[in-house]
Amino acid sequence: MRFTEDLPKVETLQSPRKAGTEYHDINEDGKDMTQKICILPGDGIGPEITAQAVRVLEALEPGFEMETALLGGAAVDATGDPYPEATRKLAAEADAVLLGAVGGPKWDALPREQRPERGLLGIRKHLGLFANLRPAILYPELANASTLKPEVVSGLDILIVRELTGDIYFGQPRGIENRNGERFGFNTMHYTESEIRRIGRVAFEAAGKRNKKLCSVDKMNVLETTQLWRDVMNELAPEYPDVVLSHMLADNAAMQLVRAPRQFDVLVTGNMFGDILSDEASMLTGSIGMLPSASLDGNGKGLYEPSHGSAPDIAGRDAANPLAAILSAAMMLRYTFNKEEAACRVENAVKKVLARGLRTGDIFEPGMTKAGTKQMGDAVLEELG
Ligand code: NAD
Repeated sequence: MRFTEDLPKVETLQSPRKAGTEYHDINEDGKDMTQKICILPGDGIGPEITAQAVRVLEALEPGFEMETALLGGAAVDATGDPYPEATRKLAAEADAVLLGAVGGPKWDALPREQRPERGLLGIRKHLGLFANLRPAILYPELANASTLKPEVVSGLDILIVRELTGDIYFGQPRGIENRNGERFGFNTMHYTESEIRRIGRVAFEAAGKRNKKLCSVDKMNVLETTQLWRDVMNELAPEYPDVVLSHMLADNAAMQLVRAPRQFDVLVTGNMFGDILSDEASMLTGSIGMLPSASLDGNGKGLYEPSHGSAPDIAGRDAANPLAAILSAAMMLRYTFNKEEAACRVENAVKKVLARGLRTGDIFEPGMTKAGTKQMGDAVLEELG
């Protein structure tokens, strides 16, 4: 076996910058240490929901320097490129990126390289974001939103860590060819041990900050690549003695997520299984407008975005739920800026808004108070004090 890639070792999820640095903080070498955030509102409901997340960040941390740029369909309209040069530059310079969502029917007929989704893939690749973190939290107030029984899911709080840049989605060779007189489709699954180790470290670190239980998901009974995955996870475990590591086959994990999801704290898995399991986990909560996500480079930089899309059906109507975007900003505070207390303040403010009975259309139930996007943002700001 040959391992050719020499990937940078990922030691920590924490930003190299110190917590609490001030606006235009100049360090002893005269270097500007200002904390910069690139805001990419995107398309559809993106601008409406990111506006609320920006208000929250401004209220909490007036020292952040925020600059807005174009991504997705909005960028195609303005420049012909879904990830234009000016956005690339800003994203590269920033410590963190806050993204709304991209896409919509207006751009569906464009050639593939001009589609808004290309912008999203482009920025993930450009910034080297290999770790996708998706929490699935079911607030007790929203227990009825899940299709599962409230007693099975109420209080659910799991984190899926998905490897984002390898696996069968990127493996070569791939294609569809004519062989022996018929069409033949093929893809290649592979991981290097360094790729597995760096995502493993992200997952162990994340579990260490939570309930210290990490379940690694593979299919080692049939796939050699995932036997290596399991071996490397086991090799890492002694470095994290406070985290309990377990393993589960992907088919069983899919079943356990609907049978008894609260058994999990952090799940770590490869790109393809993670794609499927993170969608399954998010649907346990029944409310896509509530789910944030983070994609990290392992050195503190991250792209933070809601798990949902651009919802063109409700765009421009002040009807979108901004809480996933606001909770994405909380993840940014935690994972890039190492401001755990500020992140918890945002999350608690969201809980209080739900406890007050305010609901956007996607999570509305009889007896609750219907609120628009901006009204939800106002309420979170009020709860933050
Ligand atoms: P979607 O997530 O945009 O919408 C699915 C359903 O959920 C819709 O009924 C929508 O109104 C609702 N919804 C989504 N977010 C909501 C919110 N915050 N508040 C209230 N309701 C919300 O998925 P889709 O309809 O399959 O895709 C629409 C567009 O978004 C497509 O162009 C797709 O390619 C794109 N998309 C982008 C991303 C991204 O930017 N990361 C992710 C998924 C889909």
